[in-house]
Amino acid sequence: MSLPEGFVFSQGSLQAYVDCPRLFQLHYLLNVTWPALDVEPQLEGERQREQGSALHRLLQQHAQGIPEFLLSTLVLDEDVDRWWNNYLETPPPDVPSELVRAEIGLSVPIAGFRLMARYDRVGADPGRRIVIVDWKTGWKLPLRAWLENRMQTRVYRYVMTLAGSAFNGGVRPEAEQIEMIYWNANHPDRVMRFQYDGEQFEADGVYLHRLIQEIAARDEENWELTNGTTRCPFCHYRSLCKRGRVAGAFDELEDDEQAADDEWDFDLDLEQVAEVIF
Ligand code: SF4
Repeated sequence: MSLPEGFVFSQGSLQAYVDCPRLFQLHYLLNVTWPALDVEPQLEGERQREQGSALHRLLQQHAQGIPEFLLSTLVLDEDVDRWWNNYLETPPPDVPSELVRAEIGLSVPIAGFRLMARYDRVGADPGRRIVIVDWKTGWKLPLRAWLENRMQTRVYRYVMTLAGSAFNGGVRPEAEQIEMIYWNANHPDRVMRFQYDGEQFEADGVYLHRLIQEIAARDEENWELTNGTTRCPFCHYRSLCKRGRVAGAFDELEDDEQAADDEWDFDLDLEQVAEVIF
């Protein structure tokens, strides 16, 4: 089984592959739907995902210039209201405001395919700095080293370096101009910042090319299951894989896996992606 022509990689699909090749194959290649809960309690998981989506929508509308007082009247949920007020009182600091875009996609060619990134918010001072902001709503704060190695951190900064000229006066930005911030609505004063540089950019480029070439070269009928089993309780394929029947607890999921903008829920719509060919 090989990749279909025109397959578009994302941080979500690459993270799935790194976590478990079989997961990538079942979800992204075979599109297997499997009737199982991914977390327990399911209703609580759904509720928190919907709350996260509501916050993302609010922050997008705020970036588009809708006044705070109008948006505040739309918030009916207690947690979302608290998050919204946390944002108003303690927004991510030191984010350029000359050029701001929300929910924007960029993509780049890589190893015969495309790699896309969807950004919650980008604030830029063209010619100087570009700051990527990602909203999180999980209760747990992940360790910095864990977050630094996540595909999201690597892919988002890498794609922005190659495709971010629209945020830099029409010129491709240097990696040193780019920074990524994770802002958690439950811990607004504990932002995590990840400055990029040329060395990391080169390393990410080599790593991502090799990873995509490895995936593209696979032709086995059944890709291997992950050796670790920590992912399986939160994976709805676990009974198919004979990795248990009981769903994991939602509050034990890591922060970015609780995220409302989980790409598993997205149909990647290339019509909405600002394609930048270089
Ligand atoms: S249940 Fe475990 S082994 Fe099976 S696809 Fe999911 S993560 Fe991989």
